[in-house]
Amino acid sequence: MKQGIHPQYMKATVTCACGESFETGSTKEEIRVEICSKCHPFITGKQRIVDTGGQVEKFQKRLKKAEK
Ligand SMILES: [Zn+2]
Repeated sequence: MKQGIHPQYMKATVTCACGESFETGSTKEEIRVEICSKCHPFITGKQRIVDTGGQVEKFQKRLKKAEK
């Protein structure tokens, strides 16, 4: 068994873009996220789009086309 290969697992503070923060276990002390369970659109019901590489925009354009 070799020591020091695995990073130490510690308590991490996760900070969300909405201001919410909570603790979890991680190899990093601080984690920043853009969305959490508090501000997730499926939970809040708010329209908040997390655009991953323009995929949402493309999808919405397709929807508009379909409406016409
Ligand atoms: Zn959040």
